[in-house]
Amino acid sequence: MFAEIIAIGDELLIGQTIDTNSAWIGEQLSLMGIQVHQTCSITDEEAHIIDALNDATKRAQVVIITGGLGPTKDDLTKHTLCKYFDTELVLDTDILKRLEGLYKKYDVPFNAVNEEQALLPKDCITLPNERGTASGMWFEKDDTVYISLPGVPYEMRGILQKEGFPRLAKHFDTPTLVHKTVRTMGAAESKIAKIIEDWAESLNQYSLKLAYLPSPGAVRLRISGEASADANIDLEKIVQQKVDELPALIGEYIYGYEKETIEEVVGNLLIAQGKTLGTAESCTGGSISRLLTRLSGSSAYFKGGIVSYANDVKINILNVSTEDIEEHGAVSQQVVEQMAANARELLQTDYTIATSGVAGPTGGSEEKPVGTVWIAVASKTDIRSKKLTLPYDNRERNILVSANYALGFLRTEFLLTSSRKL
Ligand code: AMP
Ligand code: MG
Repeated sequence: MFAEIIAIGDELLIGQTIDTNSAWIGEQLSLMGIQVHQTCSITDEEAHIIDALNDATKRAQVVIITGGLGPTKDDLTKHTLCKYFDTELVLDTDILKRLEGLYKKYDVPFNAVNEEQALLPKDCITLPNERGTASGMWFEKDDTVYISLPGVPYEMRGILQKEGFPRLAKHFDTPTLVHKTVRTMGAAESKIAKIIEDWAESLNQYSLKLAYLPSPGAVRLRISGEASADANIDLEKIVQQKVDELPALIGEYIYGYEKETIEEVVGNLLIAQGKTLGTAESCTGGSISRLLTRLSGSSAYFKGGIVSYANDVKINILNVSTEDIEEHGAVSQQVVEQMAANARELLQTDYTIATSGVAGPTGGSEEKPVGTVWIAVASKTDIRSKKLTLPYDNRERNILVSANYALGFLRTEFLLTSSRKL
């Protein structure tokens, strides 16, 4: 069974809006056992929409359409669907009442343009929109289901979660799918693949699938299983058992599961241990602080940071030795360790992370090419540091990977009680 997604909107084609809807819908459908076979982005033009519908109908049993449901003249999807399904718009009094109530609540006058949102195709099931004014629509023709949704991501997601996905699961008796994700850092995909070779082979016994999803500095492993709706097996348990075998093999590289990020994992460990953290960032320019403070509740452990980008800030604020900067350079073990230790004193934290490196694309030398980054973590009793030699000439990537590695370094070297090393 295949699904296709049609994203409608001129803005998608001129690069003004990125089609995040298709990515999200694809992820959700695959979690339900419905495979997306094709997605496309098209203009707000009737002929184009009809073409795309005709095309998708040839292949798919589920066609999901987003966009073009605004009340203004540039949004044509609803009228086009009426034409396509040979039906007409009628007033949906329930939706009208809901819309009038909504406008009243926000004290906005209700006019004819708004009323247009209550006109819906006669031959569709209306999928109410609790987050906006454009309703979703469910059509069935021959063996295919068509769902039309507003383009606004928040509204589109709300309608699918509340109405669309439950209806699809019922309509198609979709199989049970289980996906579990294991997050690793510090080892390349090929290295992990080698270590877990036999384990990966053992997945065949249950027809489980393994996918490697590399991103800069990290590799996610996704283990998936599928069982028909009436199969009498505990798929969740089977997949979890295989996941539970991984720490014994690659435990030193695993930092989290599912959607956990390194900053979340570090934050939770700091909370559990009642410890505080500070930063002294040079090449990462505050990115570590930003990662940490993105999390609500981070004030429980993150005290603050110093972006010591220029040497005189390293010297005058962080008391890094001028001689060491002159002798070893700002990107050196001596300097990054002093940054961490001295900032920890200044900030009065249990731990402080420091970074100093060449983010590029310019500024590299033979001795210290772009991607050379020193990271250090200081505690009250210890300072540890590590040199990264990142292979990227992209500034953003070097900064992001350094920030993530620095957090990973704190985790493995200080926060884990075991003797694991990154
Ligand atoms: P519409 O239903 O066409 O009125 O869509 C309203 C807004 O939703 C547009 O202005 C876009 O900003 C946003 N939008 C539409 N389609 C997408 C899409 N495929 N992905 C992300 N945002 C979208
Ligand atoms: Mg639009």
